[in-house]
Amino acid sequence: MTEMSSVDDLLTVRNLGKTFSDAGGLSFTSSSGGVRAVDGASFSVKPGETLALVGESGCGKSTLGRLLLRLIQPTDGEVLFGGRDITALSAAEMRMMRAKMQMVFQDPYGSLSPRRSIAQIISEPLEVFGLVKSSRERRDRVAELLTQVGLSPSFMDRYPRQFSGGQRQRIGIARAISVNPQFIVADEPVSALDVSVQAQIVNLLQDLQAERKFSYLFIAHDLAVVRHIADRVAVMYLGRIVEIGPKKSVYSMPQHPYTQALLSAAPEPDPDRKANRIVLQGDVPSPSRVPPGCSFHTRCPIAKDICKVDRPVLREVSPNQFSACHFAAPNPLSQAG
Ligand code: SF4
Repeated sequence: MTEMSSVDDLLTVRNLGKTFSDAGGLSFTSSSGGVRAVDGASFSVKPGETLALVGESGCGKSTLGRLLLRLIQPTDGEVLFGGRDITALSAAEMRMMRAKMQMVFQDPYGSLSPRRSIAQIISEPLEVFGLVKSSRERRDRVAELLTQVGLSPSFMDRYPRQFSGGQRQRIGIARAISVNPQFIVADEPVSALDVSVQAQIVNLLQDLQAERKFSYLFIAHDLAVVRHIADRVAVMYLGRIVEIGPKKSVYSMPQHPYTQALLSAAPEPDPDRKANRIVLQGDVPSPSRVPPGCSFHTRCPIAKDICKVDRPVLREVSPNQFSACHFAAPNPLSQAG
């Protein structure tokens, strides 16, 4: 059983997969050749919702984010946006669709062209989609966007090198929201920033969402970062979603051992929980050898023989909480409620 979708969903992803034909810097390959970076991802996102996608570096989460915007062409599966399968759109149709689907990048240093002014950077999507008709209108719109992301409009004729990492990320966010998107993929938007700045950017993203009602796929490698912004959480390991559910359930009663390990490693103010830290043995398996059965079995502290041969599928273990583990049990807290 996989997560149910409904007609109210903004985005519905069904069995989405991506195989790269060579390693190309990606982190894992199958024994039959090629790199299976994303395998059978199925989930949905509602209007105004934030789905956090969490997992270690190289697990395929950034590739999945790019597949949703078709910045990379999927190998198989569907991405329905507003009921339309965007994997089947022509290049021209997809260009228009991008006004509704934007991305905030991880690297605020590398994602802004150093030779373009802030006004040029922010107004580029406005011009591509024909949303401004004069230079006056363009500058007014840029001023408004800078104000919305907490920067002074007087910055618009400056260049990216004149700003801090946090300010550059605000500029990237202004560019992304300039075309009034309905869906934003935020790909580790705070992981390159100082800890002191991270909360400010997460708060800004949250405030903008409250105002503009768009949805996020918020990608992070750390469950602590998404604790405040997520409505639901999906956990990814070696290209597959291994757990997905409402934030409250996933944090209070994680059902997959990998989620339990990630949570135990997240900064935790409660010293009792800290004492229960689960230390995973070894690294993510070799790129050339994705383990058979449950791909987590080589690191799982409770693996049994069945895990080496039988691949678990995502199944609903508590209301709206799905786990791909043979031994996941119902969440007693959600049963009681
Ligand atoms: Fe661990 Fe087995 Fe569950 Fe995989 S299926 S997470 S190896 S217990």
